[in-house]
Amino acid sequence: MERLPQTLVQLIRVLERLPGIGPKTAARLTFYLFQTPPHFVDEFIKGLRDLKEKLGNCSVCHNIDETDPCRICSQAQRDRSLICVVERPLDVVAIEATRSFSGFYHVLGGVINPLIHVGPDDLQISSLLKRCSSKEVKEIILATNPTMEGEATALHIKKGLEKINKDLKITRIGHGLPMGADLDYADPGTLKEALKGRQVFS
Ligand SMILES: [Zn+2]
Repeated sequence: MERLPQTLVQLIRVLERLPGIGPKTAARLTFYLFQTPPHFVDEFIKGLRDLKEKLGNCSVCHNIDETDPCRICSQAQRDRSLICVVERPLDVVAIEATRSFSGFYHVLGGVINPLIHVGPDDLQISSLLKRCSSKEVKEIILATNPTMEGEATALHIKKGLEKINKDLKITRIGHGLPMGADLDYADPGTLKEALKGRQVFS
């Protein structure tokens, strides 16, 4: 690596910081980018710049979009009594793809994980509790991943919700989803069943 021109090394070092990209792949991508026509690199740069400049988090549900509130929170025909709690924006995409959910979302931004020092205060939990203190909300679907951390986070939220709104129905998806699975990897059919088969979380 030391013998390579500094310009190449610089980009390789940036790319290898991306998830799933090791030093070899980073080097391959860098050489590939060098050989692509200039307009491809321009599009690539524009895409990256737009990503940071045009996108933001919705102040209601914390999903990402170009507008605030996001397009989902702006849809008046959606069911205000229902909020589905997910870990990441990609989970919203996965659930929307099932075309079987008409409520709103709340994106936590991750899960509680003491091993990497993520506690409840690092997630969008207090804003969820605030949203759920409204009598308009009747059911919360906890759709964190069926992993140990996802379960622990769901349980933590359930305890918080019970304190602020006793009439709230709290459900958990899971039916049909393999343990340890990621929601955004599940196919729409399985996810649709998991939503339909949600059970009261106890
Ligand atoms: Zn939103």
